[in-house]
Amino acid sequence: NTPLHELDPEVAAAVDAELLRQQSTLEMIASENFAPLAVMEAQGSVLTNKYAEGYPGRRYYGGCEHVDVTEQIAIDRLKELFGAEYANVQPHSGASANQAALFALAQPGDTILGLDLAHGGHLTHGMRLNFSGKQFNVVAYHVDDAGLVDMAEVERLAKEHRPKVIIAGWSAYPRQLDFAEFRRIADEVEAFLWVDMAHFAGLVAAGLHPNPVEYADVVTSTTHKTLGGPRGGIILAKKDFAKKLNSSVFPGFQGGPLEHVIAAKAVSFKVAASEDFKERQRRTVEGARILAERLTAADAREAGVNVLSGGTDVHLVLVDLRESELDGQQAEDRLHEVGITVNRNAVPNDPRPPMVTSGLRIGTPALATRGFTAEDFTEVADVIAEALKPIYDTASLKTRVKALADKHPLYPGLNK
Ligand code: PLP
Repeated sequence: NTPLHELDPEVAAAVDAELLRQQSTLEMIASENFAPLAVMEAQGSVLTNKYAEGYPGRRYYGGCEHVDVTEQIAIDRLKELFGAEYANVQPHSGASANQAALFALAQPGDTILGLDLAHGGHLTHGMRLNFSGKQFNVVAYHVDDAGLVDMAEVERLAKEHRPKVIIAGWSAYPRQLDFAEFRRIADEVEAFLWVDMAHFAGLVAAGLHPNPVEYADVVTSTTHKTLGGPRGGIILAKKDFAKKLNSSVFPGFQGGPLEHVIAAKAVSFKVAASEDFKERQRRTVEGARILAERLTAADAREAGVNVLSGGTDVHLVLVDLRESELDGQQAEDRLHEVGITVNRNAVPNDPRPPMVTSGLRIGTPALATRGFTAEDFTEVADVIAEALKPIYDTASLKTRVKALADKHPLYPGLNK
């Protein structure tokens, strides 16, 4: 029972340094968030010790009476949160959820239709080196010149290739998808509709985004992005798909579920049903809108900065640097230098290689969780706009970032 700091000072030091990094910088990676302490407490609990292959009430191991309780609570809360008939809380990650979902809906060799990775799609939607691209016949749709998903192309490709599954979802897209139109097209070609809401699930839970559960056959998500829970995956569906999805997750792809993570998911679903959570998601979306406004203002444009699709409806903006003297890598480094963490991101038809890119993806969920208000987001947006100009003052920008971080302390009780 030796504490971590005594048993393994090397690992403890890196964990402490990461805590300090999260506290002292502004986290604006769109797929990240800060889990509440109660979520981390559940995740760090004795449930990590328990084997529980199977599902609540139908396990292949003894002694599952308590993890049955936590897993059933997670399932019930999740179904309630999104109005779903079926939920599976066992996928270890978003990619695992997607793998299980895809293999439940289609056979290797079948055709799938998804958003091109280079236009904002995810690896698991058909990228060549991913299981989805290796085992399925992939057809990709794209965004148009205005940066919006080209629904006419989706319809044309669906009619031409008759996919088994149409995938609606994204990792880097600043607008809402037209689920009703995806459903209409899927019905027309007799395809299944799978929505991957990993990025925007928190907005859906808060009622700030259309709910894909109303349209799709299957919906997958992560639990750690806008949803703000532990790192993990989930699957929702109409009840007709229950048997196939359950057996695709276990024994199809996974063995023992991570019951400590499932308990933490349950806690995060409780949080996601609260008024506080809704208010936080409202600040998340408002913060992104402020960022988009500031980064399309005259002085930003003069520095060659622009925003894809001209704005945002969600928790992120995609900065277009094709006219800037900075590439994506340089812009990411420059923001890192002043204490803001973002990731570089390819823009559609990017002239630069994927490791460099001509864009940035900037998200607001983590700062909204920290308590940032519209006023704070305006200050952050101004700091970013200044940092992307040809001439900027590192020291003063660092001071402004530090003031914002100090104003909204993160995990104040955790420092040793
Ligand atoms: N789906 C989408 C749309 C994502 O953006 C991501 C993560 O970036 C995933 C799935 C995969 O999630 P994970 O990293 O938990 O496997």
